[in-house]
Amino acid sequence: MKLLTVVGARPQFVKAGVVSRAIATHPKINEVVVHTGQHFDPNMSDIFFSQLQMPKPDFMLGIHGGTHGEMTGRMLADIERIIIDTQPDRLLVYGDTNSTLAGALAAAKLHVPVAHIEAGLRSFNMRMPEEINRILTDRVSDVLFCPTDAAVENLNNEGITDKVARILKTGDVMEDSARLFSEVSVVPDVAADLEGFVLATLHRAENTDDPARLAGVVAGLNCVHREIAPVILPVHPRTRQAIAKAGLALDVITMEPVGYLEMLGLLKKCAIVVTDSGGVQKEAFFFRKPCVTVRDQTEWVELVSIGANRLCPPEEGMILDAVRKASLSTVEDKEDLYGGGKAAGRIADFLAGK
Ligand code: UDP
Repeated sequence: MKLLTVVGARPQFVKAGVVSRAIATHPKINEVVVHTGQHFDPNMSDIFFSQLQMPKPDFMLGIHGGTHGEMTGRMLADIERIIIDTQPDRLLVYGDTNSTLAGALAAAKLHVPVAHIEAGLRSFNMRMPEEINRILTDRVSDVLFCPTDAAVENLNNEGITDKVARILKTGDVMEDSARLFSEVSVVPDVAADLEGFVLATLHRAENTDDPARLAGVVAGLNCVHREIAPVILPVHPRTRQAIAKAGLALDVITMEPVGYLEMLGLLKKCAIVVTDSGGVQKEAFFFRKPCVTVRDQTEWVELVSIGANRLCPPEEGMILDAVRKASLSTVEDKEDLYGGGKAAGRIADFLAGK
């Protein structure tokens, strides 16, 4: 069986690492990988392939920048050509980026069946580009690998049931990855002598592209750093640009985006996580660290339900307050919430027809 996998952004490399590894144990599956180029900086792309021991992609499209339509359109045309040339039996996509949508759409139009990993997640905020990408990708997929019960329910509520597609609750592949690589994680020098620090990440367009929200988050992080505990922020390239453009000053400990093993090292050593990332919310939970999510909604609702994660508006006082409350909380040990590290194996077995 020839499987064409499309990846392109940092979180997809993390997810694909463990899934490709599981797929490689099935001699029946020949996986061919396309990297769209959506993320291209060495520390946003290459480092993940080397740290996660992934083979080099078979196709590198080098498509990045431009508007959403431009980027997605160019990917669509290139992936369509690759599908026609390679004639895969199935296409596999991850998550919710433009690369996900382009891959799914190109395949569906050519009647190549699509499997979607991390299907069914919803923020119910149609202003998020990710929400549009997820909904459309789920709609054209015939196999939907859902990480959580909430994801299955979201699909059912949209009329996507077992009658129209194969829906499998597999658990979350990011937990597999965190478990697999936790042992070899690395604490970056900057955090070597720090205890009780706050690990922050910030890159969602809803925060970086809105000057008032961005100013609120920057003020909040500066205030936490001054009044509660040191804040370490590996700065996403989009955020660095937005902060410079807005003339804002970050008074926290900043660094370039770190590799996955360094990120795991920081997650294990920190006391609290502040983020607007989807993946990092869960990783905080995997290492039982309280999390403050600076967004209006989250797709990972179960973490809010058990009190492990708090949603917080992008406002200085609210962020300070949420971090204070988080610092007094503990995270419940709920082993089964994301499948316990068995998701990639389940997905690979299904794809292999087992
Ligand atoms: N990550 C990383 N280095 C960083 C920031 C994040 O390795 O400097 C990892 C993080 O641990 C997670 C993934 O990148 O595994 C999440 O990606 P991101 O936050 O960019 O995307 P999202 O999950 O919000 O789609």
